[in-house]
Amino acid sequence: MNVLVTGGAGFIGSHVCERLLAEGHTVIAMDNFITGHPRNVAHLIGHPRFRLIEQDIVHACWVDEPLDAVMNLASPASPKGYLENPIETMLVGSQGTYNALELARRKGARFLQASTSEVYGDPLEHPQKESYWGHVNPIGLRSVYDESKRFAEALTMAYHRKYGLQTRIARIFNTYGPRMSLDDGRVVPNFVRQAISNEPLTVYGDGTATRSFCYVSDLVEGLLRLLWSDEVRPVNLGNPCEMTILEFARAVKAAAGPECTSPIVIHAQPNAERIADDPQRRQPDITRAREVLGWEPKVSLEEGLRETIAYFRHILQHSQA
Ligand code: NAD
Ligand code: UDP
Repeated sequence: MNVLVTGGAGFIGSHVCERLLAEGHTVIAMDNFITGHPRNVAHLIGHPRFRLIEQDIVHACWVDEPLDAVMNLASPASPKGYLENPIETMLVGSQGTYNALELARRKGARFLQASTSEVYGDPLEHPQKESYWGHVNPIGLRSVYDESKRFAEALTMAYHRKYGLQTRIARIFNTYGPRMSLDDGRVVPNFVRQAISNEPLTVYGDGTATRSFCYVSDLVEGLLRLLWSDEVRPVNLGNPCEMTILEFARAVKAAAGPECTSPIVIHAQPNAERIADDPQRRQPDITRAREVLGWEPKVSLEEGLRETIAYFRHILQHSQA
């Protein structure tokens, strides 16, 4: 199959490209490197079935080759990434998704939209099922991301309903692993970097907010099962193992080993509006993914953190060399 991956030089996109190549597919990665980096796919450059195109999908999204699938992963994803690039985030979710959908329609390709648990906002229903419509502040700081993804889902469904396009919507929950950007401000790179540098682990608020962390190889497996399935309805992909951020800090410290002497500190988040917008609880209900994809996460937090810590250690050693 020929597969286009927008956002292919990002954290998740690079793992998706790698996995598609390993399965024998031909992969075109398209990226403008706003939050990703060519080094994420440097090891794939020169592969006879891989091509990287520098392109902002807001402006154009075209390739000459026939395509069997378009996976639309392009978008800033971390709160820091989308708060620093609010207009770009709204445009990639709207115009960028439109361009990617048009490309899929003209090529007769199936289309997968990377959506997010953020479509549920600060959820009033817990855990979150796909049937929940969400609790999003349309003018809050996070709205640039949440609303652009909600728009992207609506546009994807419009293409399915109007043109019969084979569309898939993955609602991705917090995912972590190697190639996350060291400085994107998310809790995983922050805590891991802090733990291996013996700096304090910075817990924002009172540490009682919860998240559920999915290792990237599990997510990629779910994304590809969804892509090749017949499921048009949105599907939650995430690890239901929910924990408080304080518990997560302790888990990272333990995974970093006895040489980690970092204290865990309650750290004032400088932006009060950002605290107010922080979803307090997040846990996917993955019944649908289990039923229609036969999918569930396999990698334990300990194992996933071990891999992630090893990667960050390697990157930090090389950046200091
Ligand atoms: P990432 O920032 O590492 O990857 C996104 C990639 O998209 C980057 O390489 C970036 O340069 C590229 N991009 C952004 N705007 C673009 C544009 N206009 N044109 C071309 N390329 C563009 O983030 P990620 O964590 O790998 O996320 C990938 C996708 O998964 C995103 O759509 C994100 O919203 C979604 N998602 C991720 C998570 C997570 O926990 N990582 C959770 C929910 C949803
Ligand atoms: N967080 C934290 N310390 C950090 C970074 C994040 O306590 O150094 C908290 C943040 O306030 C939120 C959770 O960790 O409650 C997850 O934040 P992240 O930015 O990783 O992603 P989100 O799930 O909010 O999109």
